[in-house]
Order: sequence, then C-alpha cells, then structure tokens
Amino acid sequence: MKKISELPDLMVELLEAVDDANGVPKFPKRATEIVKEISAWAQTTNFYTDFAKDFRDFWAEGTPPEEIWMFMLQKIIHAPTVAHRDLSVIGHMPALEKALAAQRRCRVCGCTERNACPGGCHWVEWDLCSECAGKEGGGAHG
Ligand SMILES: [Zn+2]
Ligand SMILES: [Zn+2]
Repeated sequence: MKKISELPDLMVELLEAVDDANGVPKFPKRATEIVKEISAWAQTTNFYTDFAKDFRDFWAEGTPPEEIWMFMLQKIIHAPTVAHRDLSVIGHMPALEKALAAQRRCRVCGCTERNACPGGCHWVEWDLCSECAGKEGGGAHG
C-alpha cells in the first residue's frame, strides 16, 4: 500500500511522463500506469471515500482526460498548502483514470484521434498508431 509520503515522487514521475510538447497533453504508456497506481491508492484513502460521490459528480460523463489533467495541474500549481495539493490529486485521479480508460489512445505514445503524432499517423490496431507500430520492443506480453 502506498503512503501519502510517496505521492510527490509519483506526481513528479507523472508530470515527466505526460507529453505536452505540443501544448495538448498526451498520456503515453508510463503515464497511464502511474495514473492507475495513484488512482488505486487514492480510492483507499478516507478522504476519497468520504467525498467519493462529490468527486464522481464533479465531472460530467465523457469529460476528456486532457481537461481533467489541465484542471488538476492548475489545482496543484495554485494549492495554498501541500495538503491542498495532495487532496486535489487524490480527489481527481480516479476520474482521470476513468476518462483515460474511455479514450481511444495509442498504448505506446498516447496520441489520439484529435492529437496525432507530429507529421500525422493512423490507427493500425485499436490502440496502436502507425508511428509506433513495430517500435514497441521487448515483448511484455504474458
Ligand atoms: Zn503511437
Ligand atoms: Zn501516433
């Protein structure tokens, strides 16, 4: 089980993993893994379970993950205290995970229908784009 003290490190890793080179965040493989990890942990906290309904109702069905992420970043940047920052992350990470799960996205680079690779790409599989086809390396299947 994660401890709250591990959250800042995970968030730093997540901030580095999210690709926002073109101004619109992309969630490559590693970023979605960290989101899942933080989300799973967040849902075990008393803070989340106490306010779970409020957090679920906060986001309309179908809100894109990019929007939730940008909102969370603003909350993090403008948090008056460390506690406020951590609680924003705990509160909204499960919504981000859910939104990511609902989005068609390249499992490697994180590009989407509306946010393609530089130079353009197309789907070669449900969750794999033409830029990343054959680049996956190291068969992690099993
Ligand atoms: Zn890709
Ligand atoms: Zn692509």
